[in-house]
Amino acid sequence: MSQQTHSVTGPGACSGRQYRFASRMAKTPKSFIREILKVTEDPQIISFAGGLPNPGLIDVDGIARATASVLAQDGHSALQYATTEGYLPLRQFIADRYKKRLGLSISPDEILITNGSQQCLDLIGKVLINPGDHVAIERPGYLGAIQAFSLYEPQFHPIILHEDGPDMAQFAQELDKNPIRLFYGVPNSQNPSGITYSENRRREIGALLAGRDTLFIEDDAYGELSFDGTALPSMRQFLPEQAIITGSFSKILAPGMRLGWVVAPPPIMDQLIIAKQASDLHSNYLSQRIAYEYLLHEDIDERIAGIREAYKQQSGLMVSLIQEMMPESVTCTHPKGGMFVWMTLPEKVSSMEVFENAIRDHVAVLPGTPFYVDGGGNNTLRINFSNATPDKIRTGIERLACVIHALEKR
Ligand code: PMP
Repeated sequence: MSQQTHSVTGPGACSGRQYRFASRMAKTPKSFIREILKVTEDPQIISFAGGLPNPGLIDVDGIARATASVLAQDGHSALQYATTEGYLPLRQFIADRYKKRLGLSISPDEILITNGSQQCLDLIGKVLINPGDHVAIERPGYLGAIQAFSLYEPQFHPIILHEDGPDMAQFAQELDKNPIRLFYGVPNSQNPSGITYSENRRREIGALLAGRDTLFIEDDAYGELSFDGTALPSMRQFLPEQAIITGSFSKILAPGMRLGWVVAPPPIMDQLIIAKQASDLHSNYLSQRIAYEYLLHEDIDERIAGIREAYKQQSGLMVSLIQEMMPESVTCTHPKGGMFVWMTLPEKVSSMEVFENAIRDHVAVLPGTPFYVDGGGNNTLRINFSNATPDKIRTGIERLACVIHALEKR
């Protein structure tokens, strides 16, 4: 069979030239968020569109101290090539933290350090998804996962997400109808919705999947950011041989360090390591060394407590302003952690139109449509609260409410 390609005409100097790309590229959505963020780079704009941690909560001084110490004490080694699996003391730290926070027994051999947790999704796709395989995902689902998995050409099955987790009846039906290879979900403070699965829902999903040929990919990018410090059980507790967990230092340390990790049972780990080696040999070793040095000498729990408290305030303010200022027909989620609130507008109000009108008033929001693999969500918005001061939240929501009131009355 000949390899399928599609051609794209490039812009600019080469405008006449046809380039041929692998067919998988045609099935992969461009990151709509990246496109929108270009519009919001204007410093005049109050942006609720992105998903950046609060820069004021990144401990630049502490990271500077850790960097200086690593370079002074062990610079030559820290700047060398290193193993694919990642720095063992860092993996041991992550394993110990799982034990302490969640009571999970995980060996450092089951942990692979990645270039941000986003890379885990690519590696998981590479290792587990053949073209046409059935993959279930929350509806709405994390755009970065939709994009990463799309490169491996699966058939997506979106499962409706309620306030307490995925719709169980629909989930069971999809499992009966199709050989679902994996389910990808974000049980803690989901991106985009801010929803956290209840403990009961986790148990039910565990019971539904146990013994089936389906893996649960638990993306736990926000697990440490529950506002009250609650740590709900990981899906690995219910599905010890069927759960893969991904984690990240982006939200608790610094996203620019690009450090994440994946936890997987040994046979899957072997494959992930091969895929990782082929991709980039290993994650940034200097970053790993600095992160470990930081974790050893600074009080990460105190740091995380500070981040939780700040985001709790920012989220609380945003939700109360939405309730106070928006039309009654507008609803929003009440996040228990993370960085996002999800708004649902009346059916007739298009979130794309809200985006266009709000940007004229120098406020940026993210229309929810790209989070739906099957279309839909035209009246939904993702609003980020972590990267805005209380003043900006107040002014931004006020302006956004005016835009939505006007569109609703039309
Ligand atoms: N998963 C989720 C749910 C996310 O929201 C993000 C960041 N937006 C990531 C993974 C990737 O984060 P990182 O690569 O910085 O760990």
